[in-house]
Amino acid sequence: MRLAAATTLAATTLAVPEVAQAAPFTVDSPPTPDAALKELLDGNVRFIRGRLRHPDQRPSRIAEVAKGQHPFAVILGCADSRVAPEIVFDQGLGDLFVVRVAGNIASDDVFGSIEFAVEEFGTPLVTVLGHQRCGAVTATLNAMDKGSTVPAHIDSLVAAIKPVVAEVGTVTGDRVDTVVRENAIHVAHQLMDESEILKEKIESGKLKIVDARYNLDDGRVDLLDTAGHSH
Ligand SMILES: [Zn+2]
Repeated sequence: MRLAAATTLAATTLAVPEVAQAAPFTVDSPPTPDAALKELLDGNVRFIRGRLRHPDQRPSRIAEVAKGQHPFAVILGCADSRVAPEIVFDQGLGDLFVVRVAGNIASDDVFGSIEFAVEEFGTPLVTVLGHQRCGAVTATLNAMDKGSTVPAHIDSLVAAIKPVVAEVGTVTGDRVDTVVRENAIHVAHQLMDESEILKEKIESGKLKIVDARYNLDDGRVDLLDTAGHSH
């Protein structure tokens, strides 16, 4: 990863530096949660401006990460083909520990995967990434509206999102988008509240969990419930 320490979001409107120096992220010297978040958001700015650096994608990086990985962020994202984290955050091999499941829901396996990364690699940031017009959210709303069921295992996705729809209640405006946002916030809070490992890391300042939404129309990632991340 390249931590562009001197680059602020505002500064990237003028120029994206060609070379960004940073001490390599090791398990003994992980970036702070805030530095990791800045790196993600800076990468997203490069992506939407078409100023990609494609960091950590050279052939030499293969051998480098073969020895071990130190991902600086965990992304819990949707399986949707249009929201590939390494692409939308302009990152490379070994940078992101990505868990993808339709609707970015938190099943036991998802909890286990995230706890593993945080515990094993000292990864300082977890981002729950929902996205505009999510099919899993749309399917849940449709099934609830019609009182119908969805086929086979798709039901497990719907079952996970239903409580969020119930929490949201009546919505004026874009229901899918409201549930997309609330679902990402809900899942981030689930991770904060229901995992002893994650809770302990948050309390010691070594981890932040944030929720965000990817905008399909322009590629932008916006943070949602920023008050929630230090919990
Ligand atoms: Zn989706």
